Amino acid sequence: MTFLAEMALCQTRFMPTIIPVADARASSRREALDRFVRAAAIDSPAAVTGDLIDTRRRPLRDLRISVTDRCNFRCVYCMPKETFNAQYEFLPRGDLLTFEEITRVARVFVAHGVTKLRLTGGEPLLRRNIERLIEMLATLGDVDLTLTTNGALLAKKARALRNAGLTRVTVSLDSLDDATFRAMNDVDFPVTKVLAGIDAAAAAGLAPVKVNMVVKRGTNEASIVPMARHFKGSGHIVRYIEYMDVGGTNGWRMDDVVPAAEVVRAIDAELPLECADANYAGEVAERWRYRDGSGEIGVIASVTQAFCRDCTRARLSTDGKLYTCLFATDGFDLRGLLREGATDAMLANAVAAIWRQRADRYSEIRTGNTAKLEKVEMSYIGG
Ligand code: SAM
Repeated sequence: MTFLAEMALCQTRFMPTIIPVADARASSRREALDRFVRAAAIDSPAAVTGDLIDTRRRPLRDLRISVTDRCNFRCVYCMPKETFNAQYEFLPRGDLLTFEEITRVARVFVAHGVTKLRLTGGEPLLRRNIERLIEMLATLGDVDLTLTTNGALLAKKARALRNAGLTRVTVSLDSLDDATFRAMNDVDFPVTKVLAGIDAAAAAGLAPVKVNMVVKRGTNEASIVPMARHFKGSGHIVRYIEYMDVGGTNGWRMDDVVPAAEVVRAIDAELPLECADANYAGEVAERWRYRDGSGEIGVIASVTQAFCRDCTRARLSTDGKLYTCLFATDGFDLRGLLREGATDAMLANAVAAIWRQRADRYSEIRTGNTAKLEKVEMSYIGG
């Protein structure tokens, strides 16, 4: 039976109505995926190399790597304290992919056409000796090597990251209003320290810095225009992100989403904008530039204008599971293969098998009900 037929059979056999049945369905699908990919990895005599295309003709171009599931912030929309508290069990150290394992996997992805590697988490700057990993990844050739951070440790680390070979950095900052920001990060962290991190990154040559602001209705809408005004003319690019239903702990509701069109209208009313072309096919942010030539902003409309059709991203979780969608429930255990002694050819075949069967398009089919489905947390899969 083909993998797709097996997946379809699993779906009909376990119609989900109550939680235990949904769990059984998830684990059965996971097992089917595992069997299919392992067979592809081990049975093929030679390594599959070169570019890969999924079932919707989307190439594989980006790999996001979660290097830790821990974070020093407790952003209310990402790692709310109610769940991520002293009782929460983060992954034990031995479960994390080592730097050697990450680099080996990344090398396979680069051979399959990946041109952009992004380190994320959790908070990637919490991973000890992260500079060493960057040095190792920088040897993989002509790739855009970047990182997303909350900026708390950036002032201290920016120079070392740059020296290690990091090309760019994205910093998350949800408001310039100190009280709003402290409430959103929920650990009372001040705006000034993140701004110092952004300055240090620019001074170290990690510019232009992209500044991510998640916009949540009733929480930080008032910060949209001040944020644009502050960074206009600085060379940095603010990107406004629609609040998404990632994971299952943030209590997401469609009413909490501020549509990107509303963000653009609010900024344009004060700081006139015009739309700009994408830098490359598959760019997630829609670009808008200031009419006076003083820079640009981006909007990431993952809820109101889903961009699944152009999605070229794979995600490697902290413990080495490979996911083909931010909203996935099942990932393939690449770490299992690695630690059982798989050759590079087997890894390459596994990645090829996974990408070629990919059909994900969650954001295009999102409803209030899909938001309640079991999904992995963003801190674990990597934002
Ligand atoms: N700790 C790092 C940071 O704060 O940038 C990296 C990980 S974080 C999960 C990556 C990005 O995902 C951040 O820009 C964060 O704001 C964004 N994010 C987290 N939860 C989100 C949600 N529910 N909707 C939209 N963006 C979200």
